[in-house]
Amino acid sequence: MARLFIPGPTDVAPEVLAAQNKPMIGHRSQAFYALFTGLQPRLRELFRTEARVFITASSGTGLQEAAARNCVRQRLLLLSCGAFGDRWHQVAISNGVPVDRISSEWGQPNTPDQLEDALRSGRYDSLAVVHNETSTGVENPVAEIAARARELVPDILIFVAAVSSAGGAEIRVDDWGLDVLLTSSQKCLAVPPGLGLAAVSDRALARARSKKERGWYFDFVQLEKYLVDRQSTPATPAVSLIYALDVQLDRIMAEGIEARFARHRRLADQVRTWAANRFSLYAAEGYRSQTVTTIRKSRPIDIPALNAALRQHDMVIANGYGPIREETFRIGHMGEMQSSDLDVLLPEIDRFLDE
Ligand code: PLP
Repeated sequence: MARLFIPGPTDVAPEVLAAQNKPMIGHRSQAFYALFTGLQPRLRELFRTEARVFITASSGTGLQEAAARNCVRQRLLLLSCGAFGDRWHQVAISNGVPVDRISSEWGQPNTPDQLEDALRSGRYDSLAVVHNETSTGVENPVAEIAARARELVPDILIFVAAVSSAGGAEIRVDDWGLDVLLTSSQKCLAVPPGLGLAAVSDRALARARSKKERGWYFDFVQLEKYLVDRQSTPATPAVSLIYALDVQLDRIMAEGIEARFARHRRLADQVRTWAANRFSLYAAEGYRSQTVTTIRKSRPIDIPALNAALRQHDMVIANGYGPIREETFRIGHMGEMQSSDLDVLLPEIDRFLDE
C-alpha cells in the first residue's frame, strides 16, 4: 500500500481514512466522551506511560510551543543536532522563553556530555531534545541524555520531540523520566495530519500550575481539567481525525507494539544496506534513525528527475531538508510501510541510477 516514501505525511490505511466519514458528533456529547477517553489506555501503552496523553488540533510544532510556554520558569537548555532542534530554539525565542542552545555538528547526535557544564551552572530548569532529527536522520540517545540531566539537576523537566519516531521506535516515557513527549499524527502513527499528541508528566503539570502565562490554546492545566472533568478538550477538537486515530490505534494494537517497532527496525536495515552500497549514510553510525534515512549524495543523483520517474509508479521520496537540501536526500520508512514496499522502490531507484 505504501507509496509515500517521505518522512511524513505517511500513507494511511483505507479503513482509517474511511473512519473520517462517520457522521459528526458534538464534542460535548456522551458519544464523544466515550470516544475520547477510550483513546487514553492505548496511547499510554504505546508511549509507555501511566500519565495522560493530551491530544490537540494542531501539528507537533504547536506542542513544541506548549512545552516551552507551560513548563519553563527559569531557563530552557535546548540540544540541537539539526533543523527541527533549531526550529524549537526559534519557537522558544518567539514565545519570549529564555533559552540557550547547544548544537552538535549535523550528522552527529547530541550527547549526555554536552549537558555537563551547562547544567552544573544551575541556570536551567528545563531541557529540550529531539529524539529523531528528521533532517539528518539521527536518532539521539534520549534515555542516556535524560538520565544524565536528572543526575545533574534532579527536578529538571525534560521535553522530547519525537514527531517522526513515536509509534515507530520505542520510547519509554516513564522509564526514561521524560516530562513531555510530543508527536504528530501524520508520521509513524499513520493518521492524516492535524493532531498533536503529548504525554505529559505530573511534574510537568505541577510546573505549569505554578506559572501564570501559559498561553490559552495549549494550556496544559486547561487541557488536563477538560480531559479529567469533561472527557473532552477546552476548544473544539478535530473529531474526524480522532475517529481515524481510534481506528488506527486498534490496528496498531492488533499488529502488536513490539512487532511494530521490530518492523521499523527491519525497514531501516533494508534501506541503510541499500544506501550504503550505493551512496553513504549521513548520520553517524550507532545513531541512525529507525524511521528515516538521510543519504549523502556521494555520487550525482538528480532527485527531481528521480521523483518524476518514480511518480510513473506512484512513488515519491524526499529531498534533503534545510541547509543540507542539496547535499542529501531522504527515504522515509515509517507508519504503514512494509518490506515489500521497499522491494518495489529500491530496484526502481537502481534502474534510474543505471540509465
Ligand atoms: N520535530 C521534528 C523532529 C519533526 O520531524 C517535525 C516535522 O517533521 C517537527 C518537529 C514539526 O512537526 P509538525 O510538522 O507536525 O508541526
